[in-house]
Amino acid sequence: MSQKVTKPITLALSKGRIFDETLPLLKAAGIEVLQDPEKSRKLILQTSKADVRIIIVRATDVPTYVEYGAADLGIAGKDVLIEHAATHPGALYQPIDLQIAQCRLCVAVPKGFDYEAAVRQGARLRVATKYVSAAREHFARKGVYVDLIKLYGSMELAPLIGLADAIVDLVSTGNTLKANDLVAVEDIMPISSRLIVNRAALKTRRAELQPLLDVFEQAG
Ligand code: AMP
Repeated sequence: MSQKVTKPITLALSKGRIFDETLPLLKAAGIEVLQDPEKSRKLILQTSKADVRIIIVRATDVPTYVEYGAADLGIAGKDVLIEHAATHPGALYQPIDLQIAQCRLCVAVPKGFDYEAAVRQGARLRVATKYVSAAREHFARKGVYVDLIKLYGSMELAPLIGLADAIVDLVSTGNTLKANDLVAVEDIMPISSRLIVNRAALKTRRAELQPLLDVFEQAG
């Protein structure tokens, strides 16, 4: 007689802060992750529950794995979700805010650059960022003309080397800005990480997912 083999519940996480801050939430659900992604090169991590596994992907890829159902659940920053939603609107189930990996999305400029005066004078600013959608919306709301330059990392370098007047980046302690003689001049929004759920899995695997959803919901 053939036995029905069910796919384990798959949770997509990125290494670093999100992984580290998700561990206590999983522990509260009685789930221990059996490998450390900082020590192991494995990308599929087993847990103490045979029916729950973790996959380790790039932060910006988490929404994609969940949208296409390769992962049932994922945890991603609001910054990443805003950029994903710009090209895939409505693709993901309304996320639960887990209040982890908190930071701020800010506009920053080199020390001594009078951002307010430039804005008042209607100057057209060049802004380098990884967060093009969030930045576009912010400056449009303020009525500031900007040319957005998409970068994939090291945004702090752009104003120092003449690529841009300003950057839009995540700020946590502020140490990275300080080390590069930049100052935050505007807060765009607070950022935290959210649980996202595959729309189909939510319908077809609701009973299996519910205990995990409950634990995550309590964290939020
Ligand atoms: P900090 O020096 O602590 O202000 O951190 C700023 C650097 O860390 C920037 O390069 C940010 O892009 C990155 N960063 C800070 N917080 C987060 C976060 N919650 N998620 C992803 N990247 C972050």
